[in-house]
Amino acid sequence: MEIKEWRSLAIQSMALFFVVFSCCVCFEGRIQGKTETTVLAEKKTPQPSPDQKTEEETEVQKAENVTKSEVEDRSDTYIRIPKEGIGQVSEVYIQNEYMESKIQVTFRGIAAGSLTKDSVLRIHGFQVSKGKVNAREDSLLNKLVINDQKNESAEKNIIQVEMVTDRLYEPALFEAEDAYYISLVEPKNEYDKIVVVDAGHGGMDEGTSSKDGRHVEKDYTLLVVKQLQGLLEKEDIKVYYTRMEDKEVSKKDRVKLANRLNADVLVSVHCNASSVGDSTAYGMETLYSKKKKTKEELTNKRLAQVMLNKLGEETGLRMRGIICRENLYLLNHAEVPTVIVEIAYMSNKKDLNYIMKESGRQKIAKGIYEGIMQALEEK
Ligand SMILES: [Zn+2]
Repeated sequence: MEIKEWRSLAIQSMALFFVVFSCCVCFEGRIQGKTETTVLAEKKTPQPSPDQKTEEETEVQKAENVTKSEVEDRSDTYIRIPKEGIGQVSEVYIQNEYMESKIQVTFRGIAAGSLTKDSVLRIHGFQVSKGKVNAREDSLLNKLVINDQKNESAEKNIIQVEMVTDRLYEPALFEAEDAYYISLVEPKNEYDKIVVVDAGHGGMDEGTSSKDGRHVEKDYTLLVVKQLQGLLEKEDIKVYYTRMEDKEVSKKDRVKLANRLNADVLVSVHCNASSVGDSTAYGMETLYSKKKKTKEELTNKRLAQVMLNKLGEETGLRMRGIICRENLYLLNHAEVPTVIVEIAYMSNKKDLNYIMKESGRQKIAKGIYEGIMQALEEK
């Protein structure tokens, strides 16, 4: 290699070094930037489908600019938090944890100690209250907590206003010139169709399992529900999910959600297993209660039949039938049309193989989706 070539090689290497170095800096910067924002918006989801509001990915909604009368146009039920004295807030957002009827509003960069319970004005029609929550007098809140996280630098101060409402609301955060508003609307008044989808079991409650114990029900119910979510979010219906992560949710809370929403349909996804160790039992079932009457024209039995038909059409698998079960908590306590879908026998090898494949689960999800759509049509 001649000197000239050496020199050009050296220049090339240096250029390459600079490119690599600046890329690294860039990349690192991006990561750091992301970490900083995630401190506050930790639960930020890929925005913004309103139908994706799940427990796991509690939607973070930023304030929308409005006037007070626009807030009142949406609903005569709202919370007002005045801006006076809170300083230049750098970020405000709201999270809705509907399983607990809990709404949390986070203020970042707020003056420490500037929000108290007295700052949270509750307006419910003609009733107005503020300060400490008195469940008897307060017609809106069951609980109010002000979480003040002081920081050395003022712009990192955070105050969280946590409110548990007396019923389930769809909140929306607004910003007007003089105050922040959290407008509260009951889901039935906001949405035409409401569906509750329940992934059976979760957390410590694993449900049933495959014969070797390597596969547990709670994982497959959630996988199917996630695929079902992908299909339902394209529709103009509001869907609430009892869980979207591996966590324990009581049966009571699952039913409560559907009842509080007065949902049009509650679908609970489960897997079966032979209780006597019979590995030859296989196929799908839908369970319903006859005793528990819904106020709807759509009976539980009809819903179970519709669901089974659609599952059969989509999967081509063996449908064992619709089964009346009067001893199951969910079916016994739901006030709305409810069905339990038993998607497979985990004790059967063929059934297990089917739900282990994504393509199999997709067909099941499609069947449930078609079942929901038809049930809504028949209502
Ligand atoms: Zn189960």
